[in-house]
Amino acid sequence: MNPTEDAGREQRHQERMQRKKAVIDAAIARADQDKGLLLVLTGNGKGKSSSAFGMLARALGHGMHVGVAQFIKGRSDTGEEAFFRQQTGVIWHVLGEGFTWDTQNLARDIETARQAWVVARQLLQDASLGLVVLDELTYPIKYGWLPLETVLADLAARPPMQHVVITGRAAPDGLCAVADTVTELNDVKHAFRAGVRAQKGVDL
Ligand code: ATP
Ligand code: MG
Repeated sequence: MNPTEDAGREQRHQERMQRKKAVIDAAIARADQDKGLLLVLTGNGKGKSSSAFGMLARALGHGMHVGVAQFIKGRSDTGEEAFFRQQTGVIWHVLGEGFTWDTQNLARDIETARQAWVVARQLLQDASLGLVVLDELTYPIKYGWLPLETVLADLAARPPMQHVVITGRAAPDGLCAVADTVTELNDVKHAFRAGVRAQKGVDL
């Protein structure tokens, strides 16, 4: 390439970048609202809960107080729980223990879910919490243990600046409809299918 062609290419690149910057700056200038966001992280791919815990770290980094309610999961040996419980300003509830996968006792599951929601609702009523993570909440809704209407009503009644992150596969349409941000994680490949068990620091 001779020097004239080179200069022309540089000029075109600069013009293209200037146009791009103008579009991006205009979009940034348009987004001038603040509000408590409802985020849904769904889909079959790995990374829903990890992403939620990443936001938890961000919020704590800004000095915010946060709450977590874990549905379904009975285990309390995850790295995230161990880590976040050591931080100040964290409320952490593991609410999944009572679900009866084995006996498939619907009435008991509904009662367990109802009790779990009473605890989760307290987080949604606590204006000191800037971010609330409702981890795996989609499952009790999907199995019919927890009415979607109850969840939507309590989400709508939360403090206006409180952010909420909900994770779990198959998020109901009604939930996605009221959410501000919905991300579907796609399962392209997962090591588990190649025979690798859950690895500390990555999967738990
Ligand atoms: P993570 O907690 O790792 O962010 P997740 O919240 O997206 O995962 P869950 O359905 O909650 O996914 O599953 C939690 C556990 O199952 C993790 O150990 C994760 O690695 C594993 N997992 C997630 N997606 C898959 C998948 N598609 N196949 C097999 N295992 C998975
Ligand atoms: Mg998860």
